[in-house]
Amino acid sequence: MGALFKIVLYAPDESTATAASRAAFDRIAALDHIMSDYRSDSELMQLCRAAGGPAVSISEDLYRVMAAAQALSEQSEGAFDITVGPLVQLWRRARRRHELPESERLAAALELVGYQNVVLDAKKRTARLLKPGMRLDLGGIAKGDAADQSLLVLQRNGIPAALVAAAGDIAAGDPPPHRPYWRIGIEAFESPAKAPSDFVGIHNSGVSTSGDSEQHVEIGGVRYSHIVDPKTGMALTGRRSATVTAPQDITADCCATALCVMGAERGFKLIAQLPGAGALMVEEESGQIHKYQTSGFPEGTRPNSNAGADAQ
Ligand code: ADP
Ligand code: MG
Repeated sequence: MGALFKIVLYAPDESTATAASRAAFDRIAALDHIMSDYRSDSELMQLCRAAGGPAVSISEDLYRVMAAAQALSEQSEGAFDITVGPLVQLWRRARRRHELPESERLAAALELVGYQNVVLDAKKRTARLLKPGMRLDLGGIAKGDAADQSLLVLQRNGIPAALVAAAGDIAAGDPPPHRPYWRIGIEAFESPAKAPSDFVGIHNSGVSTSGDSEQHVEIGGVRYSHIVDPKTGMALTGRRSATVTAPQDITADCCATALCVMGAERGFKLIAQLPGAGALMVEEESGQIHKYQTSGFPEGTRPNSNAGADAQ
């Protein structure tokens, strides 16, 4: 998944802590093996090789993630779409070469994009990709799922007070002893190097941030994000960041990506449809920074507090 995972946990003794965290990291490794698009032998890549052919049986893990992705594609009217693989490949190449993708290549990639071309069968637990050449990319959802799943492993191993952070995707269980919540710092919009000034307090839920602060490329004075608009094939250019809280981090992860595509106005309508979800968005418009927050965004946001964060 190309991310560093961090686990924070409170255990009655060291051996419980060691055993539980080992099991949780094993779960993350197993999920990485299934979902990675960097490994040609991952289950995901095997499914992509079968694109254009008949339905393929897939694991419970892959099914869970694909089903969640499909649901969010519908709810976001296609702003979140795991079939963006061919576009993501072109933009990765663009980042390496500092050169915009050629328009013919973009058009050809765009032909292969569309979540409607993924057909899932819950009963048979199969997936079918309708067009040959389709490529799925779980980069906007797999880390959130892995955070949720590894937190579950910790809980099953007798550790209710724990947090799993996969870069900007965090799943939290019960809070640390004698505290009301885990304190999460939201990366400063101006620069990831700056200390966060916004915090969110959560427990038994997930929080994810998406934006272009870490992965982007500047070509001809324009900054292109690693998130693409599935409708146009273009990488996002406006600077914005979205932080979403939701009962499950898999939801928070894909919603944060979707909100970057949709913007606050449309995106907050999506958040309003999702029980227990909240969002904070920062957008830069002609040099001015605007902050928007839904009513469901949890309390615990303390600007300029001097206490540190449990995760960021
Ligand atoms: P990060 O990986 O930095 O946590 P995100 O969760 O927003 O950020 O995921 C971005 C990744 O999702 C991209 O690197 C790409 O692999 C994939 N992606 C890009 N655009 C979309 C999109 N519109 N819908 C679904 N996935 C996307
Ligand atoms: Mg995401």
